[in-house]
Amino acid sequence: MLLTKLSVAVGLAGVALAANAVTYTPGTYTEKVNGHNAAFTVKVTVSKNKIEKIEYPDNLETIGVGKVALEKLSKKIIDRQSLGVDNVTGATITSFALKGAVKKALEQAKVSKADMAKLMKNSEKYTALPAEIKTNVVVVGGGGSGLASAIAAQQAGAKVIVLEKLGILGGSTNVSEGALNAADPQRQGKQGIEDSIQKHYEQTMKGGHNIGNPDLVHYLTDHALE
Ligand SMILES: Cc1cc2nc3c(=O)[nH]c(=O)nc-3n(C[C@H](O)[C@H](O)[C@H](O)COP(=O)(O)OP(=O)(O)OC[C@H]3O[C@@H](n4cnc5c(N)ncnc54)[C@H](O)[C@@H]3O)c2cc1C
Repeated sequence: MLLTKLSVAVGLAGVALAANAVTYTPGTYTEKVNGHNAAFTVKVTVSKNKIEKIEYPDNLETIGVGKVALEKLSKKIIDRQSLGVDNVTGATITSFALKGAVKKALEQAKVSKADMAKLMKNSEKYTALPAEIKTNVVVVGGGGSGLASAIAAQQAGAKVIVLEKLGILGGSTNVSEGALNAADPQRQGKQGIEDSIQKHYEQTMKGGHNIGNPDLVHYLTDHALE
């Protein structure tokens, strides 16, 4: 398969930028901030010219989403010694919360206005992907089904590209709670629950705004119990 004029911009993760030579009063500074799920504490440790450590010990952000954003963003802030880093798409509220807390903590560390301006300067570097990429399989969406498909295709010997629009892999699958839907007339019947494969099919189609592929949805609902 050929992808033409792919205009997706990707961040250069892990690019270590030259130190900004910002001056801090060394110490560990604490800020409480409202996250996506609940308030949490951000602890920032600085030495004279460096943000050394960012911790968020009591955060209750969502596993697989907000918690990933906290890890990714704090690593970026430390790698680049910069607050001019993009939010993680899909976890914007957590991203804003962390960056805001780090900024306030650095203010506690007596950063001058001029130094804060340096810290806030955009440090993101983007590069366009090549206009053409040759591969065998393109999977659009890096959630559960997309990643499973990508792994299966790779195991079958194909070259695979996964395109994910968010800054986090895993999709809804990351936050699903582990139960699996299936109609089981035998067991459910004994509990007075009226259910059927057909009902499961109809509800699944409805849940997908009736744009799902009927054959695939039938495959899911027909085989869900086994
Ligand atoms: C809170 C919650 C709890 C749940 N609990 C359960 C449960 O207990 N049991 C159960 O069976 N199901 C549960 N579900 C449903 C289940 O999670 C989903 O049915 C399943 O994860 C869907 O998998 P998927 O791979 O189709 O989609 P997803 O895992 O959502 O993956 C889709 C991916 O595609 C990406 N994407 C979309 N459009 C584009 C695009 N144009 N370009 C690039 N990427 C794109 C998305 O960002 C996402 O990463 C739950 C869902 C939620 C939200």
